[in-house]
Amino acid sequence: MKKKSIPTINIEPENELATDSFSSWLIATGDAYKNGGSADVPCGECNACCRSSYFIHITPNEKETLQHIPKELLFSAPGLPKGNVLMGFDQEGRCPMLSNNRCSIYQYRPLTCRSYDCRVFSATGLVEEERDLISQQASRWKFKFQSEEDRVLYFYVRAAADFIIENQSMFPDGFVPGNPTQQAMLAIQVHDFFRGYEKHKTDKHLLVEKILTAVTHR
Ligand code: SF4
Repeated sequence: MKKKSIPTINIEPENELATDSFSSWLIATGDAYKNGGSADVPCGECNACCRSSYFIHITPNEKETLQHIPKELLFSAPGLPKGNVLMGFDQEGRCPMLSNNRCSIYQYRPLTCRSYDCRVFSATGLVEEERDLISQQASRWKFKFQSEEDRVLYFYVRAAADFIIENQSMFPDGFVPGNPTQQAMLAIQVHDFFRGYEKHKTDKHLLVEKILTAVTHR
């Protein structure tokens, strides 16, 4: 699979969305991922992710959430232990809990929704090819690069995403996720291994080993 860049969309400056410095965003995103926390995304009025044909995974531990979603909207999540369920979407790709363009169960929304952050696409250069709304929104985010550390970390994350996509045949089957959100999260998880990375000089096999060891031991 080829690495895909965020498509070039002509964005008027007034439509750009300013967000955190890259390094502070990366730290917060990494922490939220490790600890299963929420992403603090300044979504404003945007609900593109609620209208983008996503299946929402809900674990059996999310009891309050499950109490607020009609059972007939849920079905067993394939390949996951009993009790894990998915919520689908309507013919227009909208989540059934979206009402008047707002989440009708916002206080009880699933962890999948709380942790979703479309800035991962701006950060990694990956793109949700099948989801125009998400691609457009992701293109609007403009990270602040206030320090050398911001720029260096951005390079590592981009290098990690490139490497994972270009060399996915070097990883065991199924290790590199098929979906761009999870691919982006994997790149963010392992970006630190790309310190000193040089595309044509770094030992790819060694890098693959390091990534496999780190991810499978987490
Ligand atoms: S549960 Fe709420 S936040 Fe999650 S996709 Fe549906 S409408 Fe959006």
